[in-house]
Amino acid sequence: MRYEGNIFRPPSEAYSLIIQVTIGCAHNKCTFCSMFKDKKFRVRDVKEVLEDLDMARRTYRNVEKIFLADGDALCLSNNKLLLILAHIKKLFPECKRVGVYGSPQDVLVKTPEELIELRKNGIGIIYIGAESGSEQVLKDIQKGVTRAQLIEAVQKIEASGIQASVTFISGLAGPDRWEEHALETASMISAMQPSYVGLLTLMVEPAAPIYNDIQAGRFKILTAEEVLAETMLMLKNINVTKPCVFRSNHASNYVSLKGELPADKDRMVNQLRAALHNTNLIKDERFRAL
Ligand code: SF4
Repeated sequence: MRYEGNIFRPPSEAYSLIIQVTIGCAHNKCTFCSMFKDKKFRVRDVKEVLEDLDMARRTYRNVEKIFLADGDALCLSNNKLLLILAHIKKLFPECKRVGVYGSPQDVLVKTPEELIELRKNGIGIIYIGAESGSEQVLKDIQKGVTRAQLIEAVQKIEASGIQASVTFISGLAGPDRWEEHALETASMISAMQPSYVGLLTLMVEPAAPIYNDIQAGRFKILTAEEVLAETMLMLKNINVTKPCVFRSNHASNYVSLKGELPADKDRMVNQLRAALHNTNLIKDERFRAL
């Protein structure tokens, strides 16, 4: 396989074969994000992608999951995606799931029938970065989409039978808007009813646009205790009616949470409460990472 630049994948795709179908992110403007700042967005030639799959087949004996990268891989037309999925099916009959990053715009531009067609041909999960349920925070971070678009996109994914995995970020609103960020994120998750929610905690690298604001004191990073209070408020206010796997066990998180909502809500809230009472349970800054 030929990889261009740094490769990013969701934590749950750690053991997947990663194939780049796009390079970079079409939006590339989110203020907290440094992932693709060194890449100019383009869609790879499908022929190259198929060649990479051929190379992977020669290299790996067993491939159970494949992840299509970079950001925005779902922006390809269904015609192109179906060519790639057909090649995957031919070469990797053992592959149980193909996952892909998608923006809300990528999802909304597809018809319900096109999403169902993708599911029938192997796409099992679409990862969407929502970051916050607050309209104001989405504007502040230059997410480029509205709250309503995010909710509609995730509902559309789930209605097609594909699982949606939605990422949010603790601490993204700073100390001024943390309650709004928590409550609006909770109500967004309740409206979306996604199969999976992943909650990271804000960590900023120098290439991210917001880095200079932090250095200049214009944006304040929450303390660990403030992050836990924000997460607790959010968790308490999520009301889903179908099971939703909630994970906040990324290297960036201060306390590792994993459970299924609504069943495990109280247990996870109690875990946060315990960490607020006993700060030894909070991960040391030295061990946090992106
Ligand atoms: S957060 Fe996602 S959409 Fe925003 S710039 Fe980064 S990769 Fe692109």
